[in-house]
Amino acid sequence: MTIGSEIHGWVTDLFPLCRSITGDGIRESLRYLQRILPEMKIHGVSSGTRVFDWTVPLEWNIKDAFIANEGGERVVDLSQNNLHVVNYSEPIDEWMTFEELDRNLHSLPDQPDAVPYVTSYYRRRWGFCLTHRLRDQLRQEPFRRYHVKIDTTLESGELIYGELILPGSTSREILLSTYLCHPSMANDNLSGPCVQAAVARWLRDFVPDRRMTYRILFLAETIGPLAYLKRHLETLQENLVAGFVLACIGDDRRYSFVASRSGSTTADRVVRHILRHDHPDHDEYSFVDRGSDERQYCSPGVDLPVCTLMRSKFDTFPEYHTSKDDLAFVTPSGLEGGYRLVRECLGLIEELGPYRCRTIGEPHLSTRGLYPDFGLRDSWTKVRTMMNLLAYSDGHHDLIDIADLLEIDARELVVVARDLVDHGVLELDLPS
Ligand code: ZN
Repeated sequence: MTIGSEIHGWVTDLFPLCRSITGDGIRESLRYLQRILPEMKIHGVSSGTRVFDWTVPLEWNIKDAFIANEGGERVVDLSQNNLHVVNYSEPIDEWMTFEELDRNLHSLPDQPDAVPYVTSYYRRRWGFCLTHRLRDQLRQEPFRRYHVKIDTTLESGELIYGELILPGSTSREILLSTYLCHPSMANDNLSGPCVQAAVARWLRDFVPDRRMTYRILFLAETIGPLAYLKRHLETLQENLVAGFVLACIGDDRRYSFVASRSGSTTADRVVRHILRHDHPDHDEYSFVDRGSDERQYCSPGVDLPVCTLMRSKFDTFPEYHTSKDDLAFVTPSGLEGGYRLVRECLGLIEELGPYRCRTIGEPHLSTRGLYPDFGLRDSWTKVRTMMNLLAYSDGHHDLIDIADLLEIDARELVVVARDLVDHGVLELDLPS
């Protein structure tokens, strides 16, 4: 089985759960991911806790929800699709006319066959989402009254999140962060958590000699990072080299990223470099077009070096936040592409430098066995690259700086740099 098919299998397993920012849906989803990553800890923040300017809301749970006609037929039913209920709806159990009901219905006239995803976390209300086609049909029905029932609870509980720390040989950190609060949509948002789980497993199992410490978070969007930052902001500000939010990373369309607020952090530079070389047709969005958890990580006073990696950017694809964002929209190849992009970025940061040449003046390559003793053209290019790498290894230029100067891919320099480190000519500093 390919890694893409395996990730798609996880997306398929998690799809039916009715997630929200709190409650049993996200709890069960985190437990599922914990089976892949048993080292992941699940932490909670109590309802009512102040996190900066926000308050952790009551925990929301749902058992059942439907609109039934006078004949007892359920015309809209949660068991058919979790998107049918406005996420965080307060409970209701009443009979009402269609006109009264209609005020609490949500549909998309432009996409008459799609059920929209609507939330109301911080304003108490109730509502149903349905296709515009069904809404029009109900309008024509002879039934005069509908039984509207939403069986939800809003009680004191917890906002929970998953945290996995994979220690490296240094305390310098890379953050991977994704959100896990949307019900039954695949690209936004199961692609992020499932790709991130696969990357975490790869780091744990196949990168034992990692230099960086990896902080890997599965949160509810917005309130999750705020609650996490409330607890860990200083540590992150002290240690974070680069961070990536993973969102909408499983479809087969173009790659894209939202830059950090400054647009020039290590995270931005690495993603930009990799995408330019591997996927020249990608889209770069400025922080002005932000929309996911980069909003919190890059806000003034937080200022972490974080950008968001995506394929189709949230809010730009027609399937976004509708029932059309389904298990066919994300594909094994789309997910695998997202997974490989993240791996490439992390791999480059591990080796990024800056490096420092340990000799004064150029090192004597042939004494060290680094100079080829035959004059093939190919060998000459390699020597030239090696000499250029040494010439700029002043403790200030990292591999991206040097690769951009040489107009090559920084990953070509990684092997050369390793060789020079092994020969005692170069010394690696960690990115600041
Ligand atoms: Zn979303």
